[in-house]
Order: sequence, then C-alpha cells, then structure tokens
Amino acid sequence: MARAETQQKNFLSGKVEHFTESVIREMTRQAMLHGAINLAQGFPDFPAPAEIKRAGQDAIAADINQYAITWGAKNLRQAIGRKMKEFQGIAVDPEREVTVCCGSTEAMISTLLAVCNAGDEVVIFEPFYENYGPDAILSGAKPRFVKLHPPVLPDDEWTFDERELRAAFHSHTKAVILNTPNNPTGKVFTRAELELIRDLCLEFNVLAITDEIYEHIVYDGTEHISIATLDGMRERTVTINGLSKSYSVTGWRVGWTVAPEPITNAIRKVHDFLTVGAPAPLQEAGTTALDLPSSYYLKLAEGYRTRRDHLLPALAKAGFKCFRPRGAYYVMTDISAFGFSDDVAFAQHLVKNIGVAAVPGSSFYNDARDGAKQLRFAFCKRDQTLEEAIRRLQTLGSQS
Ligand code: GLN
Repeated sequence: MARAETQQKNFLSGKVEHFTESVIREMTRQAMLHGAINLAQGFPDFPAPAEIKRAGQDAIAADINQYAITWGAKNLRQAIGRKMKEFQGIAVDPEREVTVCCGSTEAMISTLLAVCNAGDEVVIFEPFYENYGPDAILSGAKPRFVKLHPPVLPDDEWTFDERELRAAFHSHTKAVILNTPNNPTGKVFTRAELELIRDLCLEFNVLAITDEIYEHIVYDGTEHISIATLDGMRERTVTINGLSKSYSVTGWRVGWTVAPEPITNAIRKVHDFLTVGAPAPLQEAGTTALDLPSSYYLKLAEGYRTRRDHLLPALAKAGFKCFRPRGAYYVMTDISAFGFSDDVAFAQHLVKNIGVAAVPGSSFYNDARDGAKQLRFAFCKRDQTLEEAIRRLQTLGSQS
C-alpha cells in the first residue's frame, strides 16, 4: 500500500492543549496506587442518608429506568423550586427555570457553553476549583483571574481587592464565576462582597454564574448568601447546585441550574445534546433528599465543623500553617515550613512515603508558581480515616 506522502494530520483539538487532566482526580488514582489515605478528592467515605438510598432503590424497583424529561424529572424540579423558596426566598418556576444535569460539573460547562462566544471573557476568583479554567476554555471564553488573597493571620479571611476586581471587568466580560462557600479556600463571601460584585455585574452588564454546591456547609455562624437574592441579580444569575455534597452522593451525578427562562432555554439545549439527562432513578431519590427537614443540614454542618476542628490542630502540629475555612470541607494550608521545592514534590512525598494524599495548591491557580507553597486537604471523611491520616502526618518531620 502506498504511503501517504502528506504530513500526518493533527487529530487533536487545540483547545485540549491548554489544560491538563484534573489533578484532584489524579491524586485519587495515586492514593489508590500507593494505598494512601485520600484527603485529596472531596467525597465522603461514609454512607449517604438511609432514606435517600432507599428512595433510589425504590425508584429502580418501580422501573424508573428510562430517560427522565431531558431537563429533569418534574418531581425533582418541583422539589428544587420548593427548596430555593424555603432556603433562599427565591421563587422559581420549575417548568421554565430549572435544568437538571449530570452533576454541577455538567451544569457549569453547559452554562458556559450556552452563554459564551469566542472572545468573551469570564472573571474567575483565584484560587479556583480546577474545573472552571478548562470549562472556560472549552466554551471558547478567556478566563480573567482575580486573586483571593490569603489571610495574614490564620483566623482571618481570604479577601479580594476591589480595584483588582474592577480592573477585570470591561466590555468583553460575559460572566463572573462565583463559588461560595468556596473550594479550595473555605471562604464564604459576605453580603458586602457580593454587593460589590453585583454592582459590577450591573455596571458592565455581566452574568453571575454561582456554584453553591457547599451552601449548607458553613461554620462559626457564617451565613451563606445567594447572589441571586440581591437586588437586580435574579435576572442575571445562574445558580448551580446539586445532590453531591449536601447529601453525600458525589457518584450519583445529579446537579442543576436555576436561571431565568431565556438562559435556561439555552442551557437546556446544550445539556440535551451533551448528556440527554441525569440518571432517572437518582433524580427521583433527589426529591426525597431535597424534602429533608432543615435539621438535617444543621447536623451535616455540625459534623463537618467537628472534623475541621479535629484536623486543623493536628495539621498545625505536623507543621502546616492552616487557613481556617468558614465553609465547604477543605482546608488550604501553607507548606513553607517543610522546605520542599514545590507543592507537587511535597504532595508526591506525602502520597508515596507518608501515605496521605492531598491536592497540590498549584492546581487551583492559573500560574503554578502562585500555589507552589500551598496544599489542600479534604476533611469529608470518617473519624477513623482522619485519625489514621493524622497519625501518619505526625511522622512527617522525621521522614522529610
Ligand atoms: N469537588 C471535589 C473536589 O474539589 C471533586 C469534584 C470532582 O472531582 N468532580 O475535590
């Protein structure tokens, strides 16, 4: 057979050259490889509430095994509407404003694909949950990063500079991505901060896309505020949430968007052709989950507060400087004291020699150097898992 004289075609999209695979998920694979305790990826290692599991089993037994309506089972969309009303005071039309997706991960990428054109810019607070960067690139948008500055004293908050934020907004800005309570910093945006963001959204005619997956996991009397509840924002906000973190079912892949009808219509189109729909029986179980009483969420947050207050002093004792989270279930730490060349080398040492997996800080930054002295631990784990991780971490000093 004659050899093709022409040069081999590059089969790959240029887009994928601009990001790597998820480091968070890579660290889970490494934890499995090395038999390390996984404090890297944020998923609970304890059971989901029994009534939710039963509801999923019942739904399969009742033969809810075929496609749900592409934008979500009616029951679940209605439950989402009820819950938004009860917890945020936001009236939602489940027929026109809700789209159920395969996790909030799909909700975010479907939203960005639905709203972004080439040349649009998306403002992202940094450090950021690592999906947002690739999400922006895949949707053809250009990310513009605005720094969250770490607290100087461990008990202070991560803050942003108003001028830096303003400088990121201009005529090409399409959207700002918010994540409160925040992964990886544990920051819970205050009303004053959200008002500032709101003012810029109104001034520059920008959409807010807010990932509120940790809404119920807040500590120290901190209040979670949805930016959609601020004057002028309901019509320019896409609120993203899901079952994963509130009900400890990250593998079920059920998330959703709540957005005004025209934006929802666009999201639904993208979602339909990306995935058709989220798992039908698990959507039914989601209805049971969303109708749990508010005492459930208080217990959830209290459980994570206890874990936080257990892990942080132990990390400090082992040599980490911890930034105390006010929400979500991660703690960002400063690893300067260990004298490693960078966060990746240190994370490798931890997973291979100490037996604990964590996420290198650089995976939350656009420029790896900005995270080179940081490491994130997830504490959504059973007491005995944290206990064993703590025991292993105390050997750090003697092995490094
Ligand atoms: N949100 C989780 C984390 O940051 C992981 C989510 C995921 O891997 N899809 O660890």
